[in-house]
Amino acid sequence: MTAQIINGKEIAKKLREKIKNEVQELKGKGITPGLAVILVGDDPASQVYVRNKEKACQEVGIYSEIHHLSETISQSELINLIDKLNTNPQIHGILVQLPIPAHLNEKEVIERISPQKDVDGFHPLNAGALFVGEKSLQPCTPKGCLYLLKEIGYDLKGKKAVVVGRSNIVGKPVAMMLLQEHATVTICHSRTKDLKSELLQADVVVAAVGKANFIKGDMLKPGAVVLDVGINRLENGKLVGDVDFETAKEKASWITPVPGGVGPMTIAMLLANTLEAAQNTLG
Ligand code: NDP
Repeated sequence: MTAQIINGKEIAKKLREKIKNEVQELKGKGITPGLAVILVGDDPASQVYVRNKEKACQEVGIYSEIHHLSETISQSELINLIDKLNTNPQIHGILVQLPIPAHLNEKEVIERISPQKDVDGFHPLNAGALFVGEKSLQPCTPKGCLYLLKEIGYDLKGKKAVVVGRSNIVGKPVAMMLLQEHATVTICHSRTKDLKSELLQADVVVAAVGKANFIKGDMLKPGAVVLDVGINRLENGKLVGDVDFETAKEKASWITPVPGGVGPMTIAMLLANTLEAAQNTLG
């Protein structure tokens, strides 16, 4: 079997078009969705991510502002900025580009963002809402994964899903979303005893490990749907996922490539969340 490719780039493009139309509609009601991105320090990768977010906002008509702060900024200065943005009516979404320098308290920073403007969905109130199945702003990458499954018409009801990775930003929230869609979910991590035997039972695999080409084709059940969240740069500069694409595509029925799979969905979902946060202000 050779898997069909889930073209995240195309799916994200269509979604951005839809968002653009809805932004126009909201502007007609007097609201321009606004996103504030806070970048601390000069990490080159973070700078690229922030620029991409800014560009994506421009394309769909979302107002954006970048707050580029010095590496040495204090916790209280950062908190003050978040407080100002929390009360700024032009700003509907606030995002702090992670990671932030070690001298800053990331937990306090995330918890300071108003839950209504938490477009990353990392605030404990939003994470809790996801846990109990209430409507909330949801983390972008997991939301993108679920969107991809819907796009290929995959019904998760009764299916066995294995999530590899248990981070708060990908593994845990994606597992909750799969559960919400009635899959039977297993979460694996570095202490899982026999990952291969877990994976061999999985109808759906979400890989969020951060290890290049870690999951091979022989670890997959024939016909599995594979979503590869990982982004790993090899020494030769090539970007690869957590799944060994060449062997996995011979076993899977559907698979996301890296790049061009889950990645483009993350930014599209950030736009969707900013739009949603702005729409929520209509009451
Ligand atoms: P984390 O490092 O926070 O989490 C990695 C997880 O993988 C941990 O839960 C860890 O287990 C688990 N793990 C590590 N080694 C093994 C192993 N040998 N067997 C099973 N599980 C293992 O990473 P993130 O969740 O933040 O990100 C994961 C990947 O996704 C990265 O490559 C990242 O770059 C990418 N990413 C991509 C995004 C996108 O837009 N496409 C967005 C966010 C992330 P334990 O908890 O026990 O340590």
